[in-house]
Amino acid sequence: MSGAATLSHAGCAEAPVLRERGQREVFCGLTGIIWLHRKIQDAFFLIVGSRTCAHLMQSAAGVMIFAEPRFATAIIEERDLAGLADANEELDRVVGQVLARRPDIRMLFLVGSCPSEVIKLDLSRAARRLDRAHAPAVRVLAYSGSGIETTFTQGEDACLAALVPEMPASAKAPALLVAGVLAEVVEDQMRRLFDALGVGPVGFLPPRRARELPAVGPGTRVLLAQPFLAETARALEARGARHLPAPFPLGAEGTTGWLRAAAEEWGVPQARFREVTAMGEQRARAAIARHRDVLAGRSLFFLPDSQLEIPLARFLARELGMRPIEIGTPYLHRAHLAAELPLLPRDALLSEGQDVDRQLDRCRAARPDLTVCGLGLANPLEAEGLATKWSIELVFTPIQGYDQAGDLAELFARPLVRRAALTV
Ligand code: SF4
Repeated sequence: MSGAATLSHAGCAEAPVLRERGQREVFCGLTGIIWLHRKIQDAFFLIVGSRTCAHLMQSAAGVMIFAEPRFATAIIEERDLAGLADANEELDRVVGQVLARRPDIRMLFLVGSCPSEVIKLDLSRAARRLDRAHAPAVRVLAYSGSGIETTFTQGEDACLAALVPEMPASAKAPALLVAGVLAEVVEDQMRRLFDALGVGPVGFLPPRRARELPAVGPGTRVLLAQPFLAETARALEARGARHLPAPFPLGAEGTTGWLRAAAEEWGVPQARFREVTAMGEQRARAAIARHRDVLAGRSLFFLPDSQLEIPLARFLARELGMRPIEIGTPYLHRAHLAAELPLLPRDALLSEGQDVDRQLDRCRAARPDLTVCGLGLANPLEAEGLATKWSIELVFTPIQGYDQAGDLAELFARPLVRRAALTV
């Protein structure tokens, strides 16, 4: 497939952005179920899809073979095309079966996929029907994890956006809402820091339990924990919430900037802010410094995959001295990245979208020390002698906050250390 490319200027960052529209190499949004089902502990994700979707989930979730999974695939076969009524009946039967077997489930998501026989099913309608049938014990919602024109992290965005209409309305009193899946250990750390700052009450979306959905309203201030939540942020804003612009909590600098955005909104005095954050920031800087020898001065190339590329490039360049050559991102959400873009090194090429062959040509020509990319591209690049880091690992691993900053640096140091060991 041939692609198109345009070069335009990025307002706030003033750096030119290469926009490419061509063939892309990405995982689909179903992948998000892996980390979403770990976080919402009484939710079940029923993928309405094909055998391909079932296989994708099996291989993506392979590491979790010993856990009792709270996701499954209802396979809609081609033969179901003859009668959508039959497919709906089948869906009702499968949902009934799942809920009978799992009385602990309080929320069930019907997750749409991209095969044509699934697209013909109206899953929102099916969810409303099933919701009525299983209320009040279980809520049934629908969202799409479809692989067409999405990135794998957009599954989380679609899921959280589907939760927003279910959130209770809040009074006008100010409250902080942190949107985006954070590992429990990170969520607990953040909650302690907000408590010490006197920022709150604080709610997290998604919550750990389906019935603990935080409230939202005109008093809600939203801090995004992830940069891929465009739909969720839009849905929250439509309910009166206001987004607090901030860098993302990756690394010491990013975490301090993220906490500061909330502290300023709550009028926390600067001295108090320093008192609460200084130790954590110091700890993070010390942990990061342990990986500087390996990473400083090394070149870096991001292929667009997770939408975490821009905050990661900022962290690796500013706190570890790495040299990003190209920072590819599937989508560039200017408003959500406004605090990040000015912090990127000016000589790095920022690219949005993908034309995979052209981008791989640029990557091969640059011979970066480390390439951050999707699973599908990592093996061929490794075979060509390039060290790679799978971007999906960055979504499965707790990386946000002060106490994870050293682990985040280590994730990038590891492939270089391994390669050095192999070539000795
Ligand atoms: S949703 Fe589409 S892209 Fe994703 S696994 Fe199913 S068929 Fe493949």
